[in-house]
Amino acid sequence: MTYKFIKYLIPFLIVSTLLSWRYIHQVSDNLQYSQYELLGKISAAKSTDFVKINPKYIAGDRTIYLRKEVYTAFKTMYDSAKSCGIELKLISGFRSFEHQKRIWEGKWDGKIAATGLNFSDPKLTDVKKAQIILQYSSMPGISRHHWGTDIDILDLNPKFFETPKGKKAYNWLKTNAKNYGFCQPYTAFDSIRNTGFWEEKWHWSYFPISDLMLKEYQRIIKYSDISGFKGSWTADSLKVIENYVFSISEDCK
Ligand SMILES: [Zn+2]
Repeated sequence: MTYKFIKYLIPFLIVSTLLSWRYIHQVSDNLQYSQYELLGKISAAKSTDFVKINPKYIAGDRTIYLRKEVYTAFKTMYDSAKSCGIELKLISGFRSFEHQKRIWEGKWDGKIAATGLNFSDPKLTDVKKAQIILQYSSMPGISRHHWGTDIDILDLNPKFFETPKGKKAYNWLKTNAKNYGFCQPYTAFDSIRNTGFWEEKWHWSYFPISDLMLKEYQRIIKYSDISGFKGSWTADSLKVIENYVFSISEDCK
């Protein structure tokens, strides 16, 4: 009796151990990016996945961090553009939740100017206010800059891209950026992308990583995670995850 029991117990233990190991392994494989990373609640300066950018790639006096793989790809693209007479200087890279919160609340309180926002308008509701700020500024928690995969380059003023210099740089990017892994998520609205952030010709994303992070975001981030700042309750009303985070160009999908 005891022998029979052991005879069956041992194979059972081996199989169940293997199965549970496989299960744990699969789960940890799938959980490539944490909620903190997706919401920008990390310190890039302290993370070994991030690197501080050499000032020669930066416009003005700024400190910028990016994920290591993104920096490597960016440097190659930068050199290639430079050989064509275009300097793709960085204006922004990783931005933390706290950083985005300062920008958002600055605009929310009227301390930072937001295009189109008129505080003396009696019809200005919180939802309307959020909608106007969202044209060009992300809410904390929904910015791709939290991921360390996205960059702002050249100039944040749409008018720059109407100048000969701006047109040349943008045309170069449209033709060549994909060869280095970069795509433009916020293109002009059309029948497919008809909601979300307005066109940003300066914002480019390193697709091999941002695509994985977007998929993880879809899986684990909920509206209850987008909180802790002024006007955060409008996130659900405006369905910002569906209408902003996922409203990106076909090139970035
Ligand atoms: Zn940007």
